[in-house]
Parts: sequence; structure tokens; C-alpha cells
Amino acid sequence: MSRMILLNPGPANTTATVKQALQVDDICPREKAFGEVLLRVRAGLTKVVHAGSDYSTVMFCGSGTAGVEAAICSTVPPAGRLLVVDNGSYGARMQQIAAAYGIPHDSLTLGVGTRPDVAAIDAQLASGRYTQLAVVHHETSTGMLNPVQQLATAAHARGCEVIVDAMSSYAGIPIDIAELGADWLVSSSNKCIQGMAGLSFVIGRCARLAELPVFPGRSYYLNMVQQHRYLEAHGQMQFTPPVQVVYALDQALREYFAEGAVARHARYMDNFRVMDDGIRQLGFRRLMTEDVLSRILTAYLEPDHPNYDFERFHDALYTRGFTIYPGKGALHNTFRLANMGAIDASNMRDFVTAVATVLEELQLAPLYSAAVPPEGACGN
Ligand SMILES: *Cc1c(COP(=O)(O)O)cnc(C)c1O
Repeated sequence: MSRMILLNPGPANTTATVKQALQVDDICPREKAFGEVLLRVRAGLTKVVHAGSDYSTVMFCGSGTAGVEAAICSTVPPAGRLLVVDNGSYGARMQQIAAAYGIPHDSLTLGVGTRPDVAAIDAQLASGRYTQLAVVHHETSTGMLNPVQQLATAAHARGCEVIVDAMSSYAGIPIDIAELGADWLVSSSNKCIQGMAGLSFVIGRCARLAELPVFPGRSYYLNMVQQHRYLEAHGQMQFTPPVQVVYALDQALREYFAEGAVARHARYMDNFRVMDDGIRQLGFRRLMTEDVLSRILTAYLEPDHPNYDFERFHDALYTRGFTIYPGKGALHNTFRLANMGAIDASNMRDFVTAVATVLEELQLAPLYSAAVPPEGACGN
């Protein structure tokens, strides 16, 4: 079977064994046997971020955004106030979620790809108005890794909890939840953990989950308190789970722990190096400065050559077995390449070869005119 190599930021490539795990006997998810799988998956998800038994994971059927929404609408009290750090599309999404529920909030709209100024954010937190701070760990719209640890230290000093959207860093970059300073950490089944799409989850302290009340006027379905209580009491999810996706995630977790957190990160870093060296040797420039790169996803400046068109570039690579991704929200036109998933350096070498061929085929040299900014136009 020839395999499409996915360089979009999730759903990422999965192993053959994870795909096979989808094919299980039909089972009612209210059976004890399925409950055991759920509880094993829950424990595995918690363990990925080195959280002890004082933490738990609340799972929801839904894409990653469902988990972010659950974390925001279940934790910010009606009399509280949320501060959102927005330096990209996913930061902006957290503000939109707060607005959709009418949750009291302020958003620090820094501009896409702008490095958060910890001192300025600390000054804002000093007003003492905030009960929660929300920040994206890896801002997938630009490939920037945000300084979550420093922001969390500042927030905690002001008595403020921290909600971290770690969607595209979880299981790709080693995380210790306590060290990172995340009180609520959100991710999904289909990015660096290399499972199938359909499950989102929030990791937090059991004690906080136990004491959180249900706030009126918030989501009925995406309620962390109810969902947690239900699984604790019945060993089942409150509503129908994506049964086969849970089996696949169980297998993906087994493979994650077999590979090891450090080895997975090292493989992703190898993927990045081969991809990034190759692409830049062909003349492409990165959007962000070197020191803020996640190395899980990278945004490259789009060529302004008259023959360039994203769709044509994408289609020529798609025909050769590679899926690339358009840019999102950045000040400069970009396309994005992720190096997460069940792929390795040899796939990346093949990709660079395919790009070289496509550049010739589409006659794209030189890629840039003098009007295009130099490498690292953002992130300063
Ligand atoms: C992928 C992603 C999400 C979730 O997107 P869904 O389409 O809902 O899965 C949220 N935040 C970040 C940073 C992401 O990379």
C-alpha cells in the first residue's frame, strides 16, 4: 500500500498497527470490558505529561477544539475573568470561545507571530482581576513555541490558574505538567500522540476537578465536572464515545511508551532537520526567527514568483504522495510543513527530492523577489 505522507499539522500519519486497532469486534461502550480500555487510556494520557495520581484526564468525543472549549467553559467562574494570550489563530480561537459563552475575559492581541512579553503580561495580571490565563503552547499557525513556563510562574504568583492549549506539542515535545505550570492542559488524539481523530482531552488536578461547581449557562455536553464524575462513578463516558478511536488511541499510547518520550522527540527533531535543511537549501525562507521554533511545525514564506500558486504547488506534491498545508493568519504569506506523526527522516528526504522536482516542473526559480522579507520576519 503506498502511503500519503501528511505534512499538515494533524491528523498526522499513524502506524499500520494503530490503523488495525480500529478493527475490533462490535462492543457496547457501556460494557465493563470497554470501561477497562477507557480507564487504561485515561491513565496513559495522564502519564504522557508525567502527571501523578493526583491528576486525571477528562475525555470528550470531539476534535481538539472541544477540549479547549470544555476547559474554558468549565473553569472560569461567572464572577471570574479570563486573560487570553493571542499571538496566532489558536490564541484567537480561545478568545472566540470565551466570547461565545459570554465569559468575562480580556484578550492580549499581540499580533500573529509576535513573541509574548512576559513582563507586560505580568503587569496586566497584577490588576488581580484574573482567575485564569489561557495560552497556546505551540501556536500551530506560525510554529512558535510560547514561553508557557514563564507565563505560568507569573500567573501563579498572582493567584491565577493556567489553561494551556498543548494540542500540537503534547507527546511531541516532552512535557512535565507541573514543571510547565499548566493547571489545565488540553490536547487531542490525532496529533503527536499518533492516534485517530475524534477524542479530545483535558488534564488537571483531581482535587480541582472534585471542587469545581457546574456553572450555569455553560456547555451541557462539554462539561468537565459532569464528565469526570460520570467516568469515576460508572467507568463509562457520559455520552457515546468514539469506540474504535479509543481502541486506536490505546494502541497509539502503547507505541508511544514503547518508543519513549525522548526518542519520539528525537525522531521529530531529525524529521525537522532533514526537512528544514533541504527546503532552505532549495531557497525557502522561514517565517519565524530560529529561537522560537517548535520544530514540530514550520511556516515558510510563500514564493512571489509569478508561476507560484499554492494550489498548483500543493497538487504537484500531492500527486507525488505528500500533503502540505496552507498558511494561516500570518502577516506574510506562508505555507506550513509539520513533521509530526508516524514518519521518519527518510520520508523527509523523499519530500525534499519531490519539492526540488516540483520547483523545476513549475519553473519557480528564483523563489523570491526583493519585495519578500528576509528569513525570520516574525518572532522578534
Ligand atoms: C489542531 C489544533 C487545535 C484543534 O483543532 P481541531 O481542528 O479542533 O482539532 C487547537 N489548537 C491548536 C494549537 C492546534 O494545533
